[in-house]
Amino acid sequence: MTINQTPQVVTIAGSDSGGGAGIQADLKTFQARDVFGMSIVVALTAQNTLGVQSSLPIPCNFVAEQFDSLAADFHIRACKTGMLADKEHVQVVVQKLKEVDFGPLIVDPVMIAKGGHSLLKREAVDCIKKELLPLATVLTPNIPEAEELVQQDIKTSEDMIQAAYDLQQMGVKNVVIKGGHSSDILAKDFVLLENGETFWMSSKRIETIKTHGTGDTFSSCIAAEIAKGKSIKESIKIAKAFIQGAIEQQIFVGHGHGPTNHWA
Ligand code: PLP
Repeated sequence: MTINQTPQVVTIAGSDSGGGAGIQADLKTFQARDVFGMSIVVALTAQNTLGVQSSLPIPCNFVAEQFDSLAADFHIRACKTGMLADKEHVQVVVQKLKEVDFGPLIVDPVMIAKGGHSLLKREAVDCIKKELLPLATVLTPNIPEAEELVQQDIKTSEDMIQAAYDLQQMGVKNVVIKGGHSSDILAKDFVLLENGETFWMSSKRIETIKTHGTGDTFSSCIAAEIAKGKSIKESIKIAKAFIQGAIEQQIFVGHGHGPTNHWA
C-alpha cells in the first residue's frame, strides 16, 4: 500500500561526524522540508568545523545491503548521492540504483571538502561521468567540480553555459552549475533544464566562512521538493531560496568553517 504515504527520500553519501555536511546535513534538510529522510552510508569521516581529519569507506557489500533493506520496505520518491569515496563505491551505487526504484536521482558530485580533504579518488571521476551521470535527473556541481567533469576551465558566464551543455551531453537531464566559487559579486547559478530552457539564479554574495555543507543542503532540498511532487524547476528554485536563508541566518558552533542553519 503506497497511496498517501509520507514522502520518503534517501541520501546515499558520507557521514560528517561534525554534523554540518554529508548525511547529517541531508537528514536535517529532509526534516526541515517535511519529508521522511533515510540514509545509505557510503563512508564515514572523522570531521569537525576545522576540517576532515580522516575518512573510512564502508565495505561495498554493506552499502549494497543498505539498498536492499530500504528497497524491501519503503516507497522512496527521490534520492541523492553525495560523497562516494572511490571507483568501487561508485560502481556498487550505480549497480544498485539500476536494480531499485528510488525515483528521480540528484547527483551532487562531491570531490574535495573546502578544507582540501579528498572525498572522491580522482580515478573515480571517469566512472561517475560514464556510469552515474546517465542516471541523473539533476546534477549540481560547483565550478571546480564542473571543471573536473568537463575538463575545461570555467572563468566566464559563457564557460558556465558551455559546461552545462557539455554535461547534458553526458546524459544528465537537468544541470545546475553553482557559482558560489566564482569571484563575482553575485553568486550566480546557471540552470539548464531537460526541455532546453535555461535561466540564471542570482543572489547577493554573503561574506561568511559559515558555508560548510552548502552543496549537500542544496541538493537534498531539491530531492525533498521533488519527493513532495514539485516540478524540477520549482524544486531547484525552492532549494536556492532555502540555501540562501540557511547561509544568511547564521548559527554559531565550532571554531572553524561552521555549518549553515538548517532550520532557518
Ligand atoms: N564531508 C562530507 C561527508 C561531505 O559529503 C561533504 C559535502 O560535500 C563535505 C564534507 C564537504 O563540506 P564542505 O561544504 O565544507 O566542503
